[in-house]
Amino acid sequence: MGVPVAGGFGRERINQDPRNQRYRCSAWVRSKEASILIDAGPEFRLQSIRSNIRHIDLVLITHEHMDHMAGLDDLRSYNYAQNGPIPLYSTKKGIDSIRSRFDYMFGENRYPGSTDLVLNEMTGPMTFRDIDITPLHYNHGAIDVMGFRLNDFSYMTDVKQIPERTKELVKGSKVMVLSGLRWSPPHATHLIIPEAVEIARELDIPMTYLIHMNSYVDHESSNKKLPSNVQLAYDQLEIEI
Ligand SMILES: [Zn+2]
Ligand SMILES: [Zn+2]
Repeated sequence: MGVPVAGGFGRERINQDPRNQRYRCSAWVRSKEASILIDAGPEFRLQSIRSNIRHIDLVLITHEHMDHMAGLDDLRSYNYAQNGPIPLYSTKKGIDSIRSRFDYMFGENRYPGSTDLVLNEMTGPMTFRDIDITPLHYNHGAIDVMGFRLNDFSYMTDVKQIPERTKELVKGSKVMVLSGLRWSPPHATHLIIPEAVEIARELDIPMTYLIHMNSYVDHESSNKKLPSNVQLAYDQLEIEI
């Protein structure tokens, strides 16, 4: 929901630490040859400005929930600046949802000037320029989600259960990003922080960052409780691999 949530409810729990202000989760991956966006939530416009994202070659969408795709309309300005369409990959359900929710962007009656995305279902591993991309399928309660391994970086948000075959694909990553909603109690569709820590331990990843925390999770005191190789991420955290 972002922190604080719409309406400012729960703001009283937010201290002055800016790391407790959270926009909806997204990641920007840069390599020598590629600029890749993972998810485009409702704050994508603001995130793109503050992180100075000037070019996007590829968009990867994890799943159909609006906190991960509501910002797709704002990719328009990149179409104009780059003078062309942007390829997007997601699950079949993700692609179907984009097509129906943003119906004005596609088909015969495409609205002039609207965002120009080339939608692709990701059916297996692919290489995009200097990045090897492996889809990571896992469960998010009632639906399935697709995270991504990009070279030695694995990104999995909105996780509830990870099947063994996906864990095998993640192993060997240098950095993993994993969602952890809150400390307690357990949640029907999201891992809570202690469960995410257990997965990080099991997969033996050198460094794991947790994302998608709610407004009850305080950055500094949480990180003190966590092992040094599992820490909460914060907005605009930069990782070099
Ligand atoms: Zn979700
Ligand atoms: Zn989410």
